[in-house]
Amino acid sequence: MTNEDTMRWLERIADVLHENREYLTSLDSAIGDADHGINMDRGFSAVRSKFPTMQSMDIAGQLRTVGSTLVSTVGGASGPLYGTAFLRAGGAVAGKQELTSADVVTMLDAFLGGIVARGKAQPGEKTMVDALTPALNAAKQALNDGAALAELTQLTTAAAEEGMKATIPLLATKGRSSYLGERSIGHQDPGATSSWLILRSLAETCQTMK
Ligand code: ADP
Ligand code: MG
Repeated sequence: MTNEDTMRWLERIADVLHENREYLTSLDSAIGDADHGINMDRGFSAVRSKFPTMQSMDIAGQLRTVGSTLVSTVGGASGPLYGTAFLRAGGAVAGKQELTSADVVTMLDAFLGGIVARGKAQPGEKTMVDALTPALNAAKQALNDGAALAELTQLTTAAAEEGMKATIPLLATKGRSSYLGERSIGHQDPGATSSWLILRSLAETCQTMK
């Protein structure tokens, strides 16, 4: 995976989050304040405006630019959480001109690590961590099994989707949705959903890599 591929991934995320703006916001209207789609679209629109200058950056520079842009443009909880995730993902691949499957797993590990460091959520609390944790486990398993990047990211996305759906019966104990207590049960977590979309975008990018 080169810095051209990571640009395609980031462009895809910006497109997909824009297309899913209403969907993510409707999920957040059930258990939050109806702004998750707006927050993610605002953040990645700001990232999009930096695409021209990001083309020539190395992978770490691109990911760090995403991180700092999200931190400075997104007001909701998701801004600092995803911001830290992308900053750490960039740090994890510093100096690399190309990412192997192992590097991608290291990057995803740092991505989730950033979210946990920032938000202190454990699995089972109905957050993005519930999509990203099984996703990372699947990525590590696929790496161990010798899967190529296309297959690895596909398995990662499938695990994220399962984790996302598994947030429906959970009781929220972190973030804004925790204010609802029992009423948070029965709704899919918006942040777990955007995490799945981000990973699906990566898998789609890797399916079409040279
Ligand atoms: P806000 O809650 O400030 O309105 P968003 O609506 O953009 O921010 O994001 C909500 C999402 O953020 C939730 O669906 C959840 O997945 C995620 N989230 C909230 N708090 C945490 C946390 N402490 N750790 C991980 N994810 C969290
Ligand atoms: Mg919200």
